[in-house]
Amino acid sequence: MDLRVIGCHGGETPKHRTSAFVVDDRVAIDAGSLTSGMELPAQCALEAVLVSHAHLDHVRDLATIADNRNQNHSEPLIVAGTRPTLAALKKHFFNGLLWPDFSKIPNARRPAIRYLELGLEKHVTIAGYDVNAIAVSHTIDTCGFTLRGKDGVLAYSGDTGPTDRLWEVLRETPNLRALLMEVSFPNEEHRLAKVSGHHTPETLAKDLAKLGRRPGRQLVKELPTLLYHIKPSFQAVVERECARLKGLNLTVCALGDQFIL
Ligand SMILES: [Zn+2]
Ligand SMILES: [Zn+2]
Repeated sequence: MDLRVIGCHGGETPKHRTSAFVVDDRVAIDAGSLTSGMELPAQCALEAVLVSHAHLDHVRDLATIADNRNQNHSEPLIVAGTRPTLAALKKHFFNGLLWPDFSKIPNARRPAIRYLELGLEKHVTIAGYDVNAIAVSHTIDTCGFTLRGKDGVLAYSGDTGPTDRLWEVLRETPNLRALLMEVSFPNEEHRLAKVSGHHTPETLAKDLAKLGRRPGRQLVKELPTLLYHIKPSFQAVVERECARLKGLNLTVCALGDQFIL
């Protein structure tokens, strides 16, 4: 599995891009920077986008990628998310007011985007991957994902604070190759993290401990844990605090990173 980091921050500056990851050039996880961070051919090559939740930093570039692909007569882009997420996209985003309804453009038979509703913990095949959506704990309906390809499983936390079900599912997931895991605020900003449904390094370490021992006797300390969603204002301090966490296999994602899993 080839994982590319297009955007991995919880905010934007010229050096920070909002969340978007691409697997094997085919499937994107979140759409925070799919057009600001990718050339047109790569945008048009995508088959699907898994959307964790409706917050703007995760959906914003759906607007521009739909427009770009429409101009290039690309195949319909599958936009997969849970019912509340898709409902928000339809009502507040592709609503013919804030942005055109690209699920009907250029025509309803072969539109620029096609919604695919995901049930929680109902496995579905998308672009050849087994995809499972798992509810996590944020301020609105949000899910993480597991994505199983022929080489193993990639997990994605979505925006979340302390949560439980994700860890239960991941404990039972064999051949887990890596976890894309959110961490947003420094320890000092724990109140802000709590009210906004995000992690600090301290709460992250406590949550990762819930993973414990997994099938195949692999310990959490061996699981490559790729950190994303750090707020640009706190990038340096969060990195320092994460570097002090012991017994974990943490890597802070950077723009342009590529991981072969
Ligand atoms: Zn969010
Ligand atoms: Zn976010």
